[in-house]
Amino acid sequence: MILNNVDFETYFRHYPDEGGFFGKYGGCYIAPELQKAMEEITQAYFTIAQSRQFIAELRRIRKEFQGRPTPVSHLERLSNKLGSVQLYVKREDLNHTGAHKLNHCMGEVLLAKYMGKKKVIAETGAGQHGVAMATAAAYFGLECDIYMGAEDIKKQAPNVARMKILGANVVEVTEGQQTLKEAVDAAFAAYAKEYKDCIYCIGSVVGPHPFPMMVRDFQHVVGEEARAQFVDMTGHLPDAIVACVGGGSNAAGFFSGFLNDPVEIYGIEPLGRGATPGDHAASLQYGSEGIMHGFNSIMLKDENGDPAPVYSVASGLDYPSSGPEHAFLRDCGRVKYDVINDEETIDAFYELARMEGIIPAIESAHAVAYGIKLAQRMGKGSVLINLSGRGDKDMDYIIEKYGIR
Ligand SMILES: *Cc1c(COP(=O)(O)O)cnc(C)c1O
Repeated sequence: MILNNVDFETYFRHYPDEGGFFGKYGGCYIAPELQKAMEEITQAYFTIAQSRQFIAELRRIRKEFQGRPTPVSHLERLSNKLGSVQLYVKREDLNHTGAHKLNHCMGEVLLAKYMGKKKVIAETGAGQHGVAMATAAAYFGLECDIYMGAEDIKKQAPNVARMKILGANVVEVTEGQQTLKEAVDAAFAAYAKEYKDCIYCIGSVVGPHPFPMMVRDFQHVVGEEARAQFVDMTGHLPDAIVACVGGGSNAAGFFSGFLNDPVEIYGIEPLGRGATPGDHAASLQYGSEGIMHGFNSIMLKDENGDPAPVYSVASGLDYPSSGPEHAFLRDCGRVKYDVINDEETIDAFYELARMEGIIPAIESAHAVAYGIKLAQRMGKGSVLINLSGRGDKDMDYIIEKYGIR
């Protein structure tokens, strides 16, 4: 498939390029001392992570520890209720720890171990990335420092407890708003001091090169499995696939299995309470080009050009930008990006639980809501949705805010 001069048959050979660019997006915009650390990781990724030994070990871990392959499930009752389009979900909710995040964390921490590092550093907002990192670090026996804003520590007590039980060191960040942005700054500052003994592990397909590439590649297993499983189940490809996009890691891995196929691809961002700035986190829909957290992409900016405040009912989606590859796939027209608001998300959350016996993460419910809309619009065919995680983490919030419907 060739679209706007991009040949998707050879896509992975050319994107990202050597500098980490997907077209004009991506790159590595960080302090010179950290540039060196990034080059070391890139080098290790292209040598160690492509070795037979590394690949074999990661495959074994995925099977024996994570419980992969996760299945694809047919949403039979929901499909019948909606009409004739058949809906399917890729079950990343059944991946160990309940979401797709462990796929790239196990890869990143395995790489750290092969590089001889003693420690991994990460930041976390709602705590999901922190828990996945703490899990991976415990598995490999590495030290783990998780930087977290004091405000987030107060709000996310169960995840803080999980990280500590798993042996991670949760570092409280008390600067500024005491949330994710400050935690990122604190983690980068710590990394600049300690990069000889540790690596920094980013939680999505964002940040400086090589992370958008590396995280996508570690998540590729989702798309690869889903494609083979779907063809095996039905004898053909899905007509459309859907995933939610925060930073964009679950979507990037899932989409990467289908880029060269005649399949419509949809990335769904959170519209939150509506299109007013501050009420959503739909960066690809409403943002403009800019540099943040070490990479060039499309972002939501305030009047000073800094990352704008964002909101979503799903804490995993409230990031003011998306990975550079998504900005590129949007511009070349291969992936369509659209939005789903809080209300549609919560309706889909209850609908999937009632009709199929699956309680989705609120993040994933954005993709389910769009899949339902798409089914009504298409009239015939099939839609495969990436169910990035399970909703157990969201129960308290849902019960408090929406009650039991
Ligand atoms: C963190 C998270 C997301 C958002 O992250 P992406 O990098 O955009 O995939 C989506 N779903 C779940 C369940 C999450 O935990």
